[in-house]
Amino acid sequence: MNYYIEDFTEDNYKRLLRTVQEKSHFASYEECIKTNGVVWRHDIDISVNRALALYQIEKELGIKAYYFVYMHSSFYSVLEKEIVKMLKTISESAIIGLHFEPSFYNLSTEDIGGLEQKILFEKNMLESILDVEILHMSFHNPDVGGSWHLLPYEELGGLYNVYGDNVRNNLMYCSDSNGYWRFQRLENILMSLDNSSKFQVLTHPVWWQECSMFPYERVERCAKGRMEKSLEIYKSDLEKCNRVNVTKEKMYDKNY
Ligand SMILES: [Zn+2]
Repeated sequence: MNYYIEDFTEDNYKRLLRTVQEKSHFASYEECIKTNGVVWRHDIDISVNRALALYQIEKELGIKAYYFVYMHSSFYSVLEKEIVKMLKTISESAIIGLHFEPSFYNLSTEDIGGLEQKILFEKNMLESILDVEILHMSFHNPDVGGSWHLLPYEELGGLYNVYGDNVRNNLMYCSDSNGYWRFQRLENILMSLDNSSKFQVLTHPVWWQECSMFPYERVERCAKGRMEKSLEIYKSDLEKCNRVNVTKEKMYDKNY
């Protein structure tokens, strides 16, 4: 199988966005369903740093995309100072949505009231943290603990559900899940677009790096970057308080 590893670079990302601009145009969900265009959505599962890098490319090209923020990531905290700063920058000209994980709460697809309550809870939390209005939601792992992606509702918890019937029945779809093209290569679909196309692209920023890498290496790079940053914070906090960073090396250093 050809995983098209070389597709997932920043340079190629920019080229793909330009292809959309040449063949069609970027649109909101509402506009795309009503007329045509391309909706570009990011689910930020792992890396806000990568999301910011892609946002900057989009901004340079005058493109408005959607960024869905995941509250339960094991790779970033929505309450972290640096993360909030980056998300606020993204919110300046992109649309921020909620990336909601039903299995976190052991919810059932039978209990729509319970589902809406939790969506509303996370929407309010995200709005307070980022000081932006949240109007859209997507599901994280939409087939875990139920077929969440098959719920027909256009709105859930007052938010526009991008898995609702209206979107699923009207827009073509391509995703970079797992860091490769599981069905069709995005480039091939984009090349076949015309003025009547209605198309939704889902990307996960972690998969798009400066240079070509295998999917696992891309995740590893983000995880290591975060670890280094955390250690830097630990060391600078010690320095700020005039405390000693006691390490094995220091204990065996005769000058210490
Ligand atoms: Zn996700």
